[in-house]
Amino acid sequence: MGLSPHTSAGIVGRIIGFSKTQGMLASPLYHCIMRRDADGDEATVILLMDALLNFSPKLLSNHRGATQDEPLVLTSVILPTEVDDMVFDMDIVWRYPLEVYEAGLQYKPAYEVKIKTLKDELGKEGQYEGWGFTHDTSDFNKGVRCSSYKTLPTMQEKVQRQMALCEKLRAVDHHDVARLVIERHFIRDIKGNLRKFSQQQFRCVACNEKFRRPPLKGNCSKCNGKIIFTISEGSVIKYLDPSLSLAEKYQLPAYLVQTLDLAKQMIELNFGKDKEKQEGLGKWFG
Ligand SMILES: [Zn+2]
Repeated sequence: MGLSPHTSAGIVGRIIGFSKTQGMLASPLYHCIMRRDADGDEATVILLMDALLNFSPKLLSNHRGATQDEPLVLTSVILPTEVDDMVFDMDIVWRYPLEVYEAGLQYKPAYEVKIKTLKDELGKEGQYEGWGFTHDTSDFNKGVRCSSYKTLPTMQEKVQRQMALCEKLRAVDHHDVARLVIERHFIRDIKGNLRKFSQQQFRCVACNEKFRRPPLKGNCSKCNGKIIFTISEGSVIKYLDPSLSLAEKYQLPAYLVQTLDLAKQMIELNFGKDKEKQEGLGKWFG
């Protein structure tokens, strides 16, 4: 049974062999129904009988999110028409016609050349079989066995390597990639966690009692235990320096730089200035 984070649904599959890859080789439909596109997110498998015999919703803790990664429902047949539509645009031809390359030379939009995709086969026999591919191999262990997204331990290194790759690719505007990484991921994470920090609950380390506000006496009103934050400073500031470094190195638009500066000011208002952190600018993308 395949399962991926936050889907709450298991999908039955049949194991037909093993590879040396740190990954799962399966039908694209199988990856897609698990909402995975092989971009580095993790998926898991559970042996079916194990889940049927040993899993019960009664075992789950009652905190929010506990049910997100559990096989609460089970799908035994993949209906291609009902999976994430991302996979519908997958090309299923055995070779690309010359027309594709000629259109490429003229910078034509991709949709101007008609290539058979999975979408064309939905509802037909071809929705499950007969798909083409262009590069065969004699041994699927000869490729990359473990994604560098997994081997690189920190987010800084992942982004650093992504940017190094982008700089090598002529088709990629790496300044824009840096902008997108900040706008779509880092700045949202920083702002979201900063808001959560100011609205957070407090927790007793001894008895786990939750408090909307910390008791004035400074200890747990139930058991006198120590009170701690539920959202850490680290989770708020972790992407600030990488964002500032990216913005500096790739000369990003003034508006974005100002947004980051404001976020930095808000963080300093909350946590104070950190001398060591200030020196760290540029060290990730220098
Ligand atoms: Zn307590």
